[in-house]
Amino acid sequence: MQTARESQPISRGAAQSMAKLFKTDALTPWDELAAMPPLTDASSETFPFEEGIAIIKQAFGEVDQEMADFVDMMVENHLIDAAPQPNKVMGAYCTKIPKTRTPLVFMSYGGSMSDVLTLAHELGHAFHNWVMRDMPYVETTYPMTLAETALSSRRMWCEMPCWRERKTITTKC
Ligand SMILES: [Zn+2]
Repeated sequence: MQTARESQPISRGAAQSMAKLFKTDALTPWDELAAMPPLTDASSETFPFEEGIAIIKQAFGEVDQEMADFVDMMVENHLIDAAPQPNKVMGAYCTKIPKTRTPLVFMSYGGSMSDVLTLAHELGHAFHNWVMRDMPYVETTYPMTLAETALSSRRMWCEMPCWRERKTITTKC
């Protein structure tokens, strides 16, 4: 709790910066869940799904080739449901079929850089599930804090060479 209290100025500063971007004095709860507004004209660049996958695969490959191969496996086996549909809600999540340990990623991919990062995040969860597929099922449960630790660091992805080549990404991270 002490660490949380000591970190309050950081989160308040982040909220104030976000409010400034939204051109408001105070954030509403729904603002906190809203996508970041574009910071530059270039940030409106869109990335077709195949290009987003290529960016993610390159970034994953800079961590480990097995992760890049995993992205291919997910695409080739149609384990990513990313196409927006009229009755499909926004958002993204990863799940798995318990019996086969097959990971599945669902999202409504719109082609923004935020969508690319979200897809990378969910594929990170999927990879986490995938590497545990041969473990006893009871040993594969973990707390949300562990699940999100490695995957929520957008900064980590943004520091990678393939991300740095893209100014639109580095300005948003
Ligand atoms: Zn997550």
